[in-house]
Amino acid sequence: MLSLPDYPVRQRDFLLEISRAITAQLDLSEVLRRVLRASVVMTAARVGVVALRGESDEQFTVRAFTGMQQDRVPVLNAKLLELVNSDQAEFSVEFLNAKLREMSEAIDPALVQAVAMPLTFADKPLGLLIVFRSYQSLISPSDVQILQSFADQAAIAVHNAQLYEAINQERRRLEAILDYSGDGVMILSPHLLILQINRAFEQMTGWKSVDAVGLHQDEVIQWVRRDQIDLQDAMSAGLFPKRQPNGRTLYVEGDIQRRDGLTASLGITYAPLFNEDGKLTTIIANVRDIAHYRRAQEMQNVFISTVSHELRTPVAIIKGYASTLNRSDVEWDAAVVRESVAVIEEEADRLAELIDDLLAASKIQAENNVRLTLSDVRLDQMAARAVERFSKQTQRHTFALSFPADYPSIQGDEKLLRQVVDNLLTNAIKYSPNGGTITVGGRFSETTVNFFVRDEGVGIPEAEQQRIFERFYRIDGNLTSKTKGTGLGLYLVRAIITAHRGEINVKSQPGHGSTFYFSLPRD
Ligand code: ADP
Repeated sequence: MLSLPDYPVRQRDFLLEISRAITAQLDLSEVLRRVLRASVVMTAARVGVVALRGESDEQFTVRAFTGMQQDRVPVLNAKLLELVNSDQAEFSVEFLNAKLREMSEAIDPALVQAVAMPLTFADKPLGLLIVFRSYQSLISPSDVQILQSFADQAAIAVHNAQLYEAINQERRRLEAILDYSGDGVMILSPHLLILQINRAFEQMTGWKSVDAVGLHQDEVIQWVRRDQIDLQDAMSAGLFPKRQPNGRTLYVEGDIQRRDGLTASLGITYAPLFNEDGKLTTIIANVRDIAHYRRAQEMQNVFISTVSHELRTPVAIIKGYASTLNRSDVEWDAAVVRESVAVIEEEADRLAELIDDLLAASKIQAENNVRLTLSDVRLDQMAARAVERFSKQTQRHTFALSFPADYPSIQGDEKLLRQVVDNLLTNAIKYSPNGGTITVGGRFSETTVNFFVRDEGVGIPEAEQQRIFERFYRIDGNLTSKTKGTGLGLYLVRAIITAHRGEINVKSQPGHGSTFYFSLPRD
C-alpha cells in the first residue's frame, strides 16, 4: 500500500491519465487497461477485472483484466452469469459477496478479498469493476471512494465507446442504404459542393465518386435540356430555402450530358436539411433515371397517332365507297357494285382485325396471361395452308416449306397459333419489300418442337432485336413508317408462345433478312 501522503497525489495523477486517454479517444481496451492498473495500484490489489453488460442481453462478460491469466476468463464469465441469472431481484450484499468469493477462488485460491464497484452512466448499469486482494484488510471509505472514481471514469469510456459504436453502426447502415438504393443520391454542401454520391448516381452520370466529390454540382450535373429552373437559380431567386421554413423541395427534370458524352434523362429532387438553429447544412439530391418513363410516354404518343391513323384509313375508305354507292343520281352497274362491296368488306375485315389486336393486347396486359383452348395442332399443315393463302397476296415473294415428314403434332391453341404463324408471315412479307424467298419450316427433338419463318428482307439491328417484342414498339425507320402496323403483332406473338410455355426469338443481320423461331414443349 502507498504511504498516506502520496495517496491523493497518485489518485489525481491516475485520474488525469485516464481522462486524457478518454479525451484522446484511445480505444476502449486501452482505457480499461489504464483504469485497471490505477485501481489495482491504488487499492494494493493483485487482480482487477472489468465486466461489461451485453448490448442486448443482461449478461456480464469479462472485457478487460490485469494480474491473471486469460484461461480464467471462462470460469469468471460463468460466475458472472450466475450473478445475473439468480432469482434475486436486486443483488443482496451477502449474495454478491458469496459470488465474489467464488470468483476469487476460481482465479486463484490465494485471493482472499474482493471489492466490486458498479459502472453506471446516467443511472444505467453498464458493468462492474472488481479488484481482488491476496490479503484480508479493512476496506476503507477512501478505498471505496477511489475505486468509485475509477469506475466512473471507466463508465464514461464505456458509454463513449457504445455511443461511438452506435453512431458507426448507424453510419454503416445509412451507407448501405445509400449504396444499394436504386435511386441516385448526391449530398451537397450549402454552397453546392458535392460531399458524397452513391453507386446508382455513378451509373446514371458516368462520374466516379473519387472524381466528383469536391466539385461544384454544376460541373457534374450539366443540363443540355431542362424543363424547370435549376438549383443555383432557384437559390438565388429565393425559391429554395436557405433557412428553415416549411421543408420545401425542388424538382428539376431534363437531360444531362454524362461524363462519357452520352445523354441521360434525369429527374432530381433536392431536399434541404437544417441544423437545430434552422440553418441550411446539407442538400440531399434524389436522382431518378426517367429514360424508361420518357420512352413509354413517347411510345404511347406514337401508338395513339398510329392507331388513330390505322383506324381512320379503313373507316374513310368504307365511308367513301358506301357514299358513292349510295348516290341517288347514279345507276351503278353490277360489276362496280360488287367490286365496291368487296373493298368495303376487306376494309371492314382489316378494321375488325385491328380492333381484335388492340383488345387482345389490352386483355393480356390487364389479366397478365392468355387463356388457351387446347387441341392437337399440326404446325406443318398450318404453315402449308398459310403459305397457300399468303402466296396469293404477293407476286414478289417465293415461298418454301421445310418440315421433316415425321414432324409431330403438339398440344396447343389452334386459333392462337394460327395467329402467330400469320403474324410472322405478314411481317416477313412486309419487311422484305424487294421480295426474296420466305421459308417456313420446323425441326423437333424428344422434348420440343421448333418452328421458324425466315425472310431475306431488311433485317433488324442487334440493339432492336429484343425491343421489337415490346408493346407498340416499331423500329424507327423509313420502311416501318411507310408500312402499316401498330407494333402489337410481335407483342401478341410472344404472349401466345409464352402462354404455351414456349420461347420465341429472332436472329437477324441487317440487310440480309431475319429468322423468327419459336420452340414449344411436346408434352
Ligand atoms: P408492326 O409490324 O405492326 O409494326 P410488330 O410487333 O409485328 O408490329 O413488329 C414490330 C417491329 O419489328 C416492326 O415495326 C418492324 O420494324 C420489326 N419487324 C418485325 N418483323 C420483322 C421482319 N421480319 N424483318 C424486319 N423487321 C421486322
